[in-house]
Amino acid sequence: MNDAAVDHHTLRSERLRRVRQRMGELGVDALLLSHGADLPWLTGYRAMPLERLTLLVLPARGDPVLLVPALEAPKLPETGADVAVRAWTDFEDPLSLASDILGPDSDRCLALSDRAWATTLLGLQQRFPAARFVLSSSVTAPLRAVKDRAEIAALRRAAEAADRVAGALQAAEIAVAGRSEADVSRDISAALVAEGHRRVNFALVGSGPNGASPHHDAGNRVIVEGDLVVCDFGGEFVPQGEEVGYCSDITRTVAVGEPGEEVLLCYSVLQAAQAVGVAAARAGARAEDVDAAARTVIADAGYGNRFIHRTGHGIGIEEHEDPYLVAGNRTPLVAGHAFSVEPGIYLPDRFGMRLEDIVVVGDDGPEPLNRADHGLAVVEP
Ligand code: ZN
Ligand code: ZN
Ligand code: ZN
Repeated sequence: MNDAAVDHHTLRSERLRRVRQRMGELGVDALLLSHGADLPWLTGYRAMPLERLTLLVLPARGDPVLLVPALEAPKLPETGADVAVRAWTDFEDPLSLASDILGPDSDRCLALSDRAWATTLLGLQQRFPAARFVLSSSVTAPLRAVKDRAEIAALRRAAEAADRVAGALQAAEIAVAGRSEADVSRDISAALVAEGHRRVNFALVGSGPNGASPHHDAGNRVIVEGDLVVCDFGGEFVPQGEEVGYCSDITRTVAVGEPGEEVLLCYSVLQAAQAVGVAAARAGARAEDVDAAARTVIADAGYGNRFIHRTGHGIGIEEHEDPYLVAGNRTPLVAGHAFSVEPGIYLPDRFGMRLEDIVVVGDDGPEPLNRADHGLAVVEP
């Protein structure tokens, strides 16, 4: 075993300890993890979202058992998952195996993966008619939201790779002018992989009026002089010697040809709002305070009703996870929280712009992981 593997083992044992402690606090009798991010976070094993059931059965007392389809079992040694494995064949019923592990039905509380299939939940409810079911995120989300050192290091590597792609766009090494959004999106995706991402989760390219739709997917529109081009992309990055990937997510906006006065004014408001949001990401502040800080700058400039989404989302094994930076989320920020700060301004039928970095709350204030230039890059038409 190399150092990295030992380290992972320690980290996972620590996560398991905290999960058990929180299960006790919440009165959860068993955690049932199917595919989704909780399982790799806790065990290092990422299950494919197959119709065949993968289920980690983790009773509050007693050892966890990972039920995996037999044909998936050969992958397990590579992932370093250190839990007992029970491979089930196509001639067995995995839910019966789960109820054997859990014992006879009673009015207990079972926490099931948020992303489990309905077939799994309904099957479990049939076998445990007296049980109360809750989401596994009620146990895991607040724990997963606070990243440990290894996770922050992985997010930093992911951000650095995404920064290099953003830099290539800003330097016109990835050309946008005269090309379709889809072509640019393909180049961004290829660059993310070339910079070390295992997979691309999305590469949104919204040009001209399309940029006013925050989640516009890249289409056939050809990018022309005078366009703003909103590029929002990210993927999964797996650092050397590790098994579980962490996500990148960055947005930069590029202008094709010299932008007009209104665009420049809007962009200066956006850039100020984003910087103020990042500065507000301090331990002791509440998640909603970061949203309010960024939103106030945009509202004061008269564009409040043009900033039509929350300011950010947590990021880790999943692109979007706790904590969400949105009015009403009074979660106090602590060192280790990692999230995007991504205000935008969208003028329907005209243009849009967004500026997004991943930020970690540090002991001594906010630590932005993305360093790509924050100004409006202007490229030749
Ligand atoms: Zn988004
Ligand atoms: Zn994004
Ligand atoms: Zn984002």
